[in-house]
Amino acid sequence: MKIKKASFSISIDLELAWGVWDIINPTLLKNATNLEREIVNNLLNIFEDYLTPVTWATVAALLDSNNKMVNFGDKKAWYAPDIIENILNSKIKHLIASHSYSHINFKENNKNVICEDFEKAEYYFKIHNIKTDVLIFPRNQIEHLDLLNKFNYKFYRGLDKSWYKEISKYNKFLGKVANISDKILPIATNSIKPTMHQSGLVEIPTSMLLISRNGFKIPVTNNNMLFKVKKGIEAAIKKNECFHLWFHPSNFYFKSKKQFELLKDILKFVNSKREKGLIDIKLLNELSFVN
Ligand SMILES: [Zn+2]
Repeated sequence: MKIKKASFSISIDLELAWGVWDIINPTLLKNATNLEREIVNNLLNIFEDYLTPVTWATVAALLDSNNKMVNFGDKKAWYAPDIIENILNSKIKHLIASHSYSHINFKENNKNVICEDFEKAEYYFKIHNIKTDVLIFPRNQIEHLDLLNKFNYKFYRGLDKSWYKEISKYNKFLGKVANISDKILPIATNSIKPTMHQSGLVEIPTSMLLISRNGFKIPVTNNNMLFKVKKGIEAAIKKNECFHLWFHPSNFYFKSKKQFELLKDILKFVNSKREKGLIDIKLLNELSFVN
């Protein structure tokens, strides 16, 4: 008989300037060039200290030195094989997932363009001996699902199912206000469970984004964020579900020290539950969808 146990997962969207290529400006370029590497190194050290494997949703163009964008500002903002090497060389066995080749808009492009992008991603990952069956859609635009089988993707990240996301469906601005309110108020966060669709694809929704701490998000506190995450993890344990946290390294650009402290406190809490045998830490392609 299959023993069911709660799980905890982290997915990180590793994209540097590719995440914002269509709205690129000197500040974004400078941040990607100067901040990203140190943040990823700190994350890798924390994951080693807390024995935590995570899923890195990687833009494959970071492995392509010939893409024309490398001439736009500093090459280091677009080309980062060194970062991927560090992830692969970590003592912890992390998973590289695909975040597409070039972070294109999946809503606005047709199947031919998307196919070409998937082919390029496959090519650059293969050169680096990376084989992955997990796709994390750029901008979380879940489109062209019928192409996933062809490119051997079996798992994809779904959306956050929280109350504030429902609001964004009707009004983007109110959705943003609701998202920040959710992080300021002590409201518990959902645990999630993966769903297997008829196509055979497994969708893994997210529980919470570890949001940035700049601008109007300043009222968000570590205490409140930690409270929310703890409640979500406790819910996962109670229901034999998963707590799935996601973020970008750029979510650590502001108030970095506080954000790293928060991440450590979260992992400390997860480990206290793991030591009691109540929860496992899983990569996205290890999550069980059997209920
Ligand atoms: Zn992205």
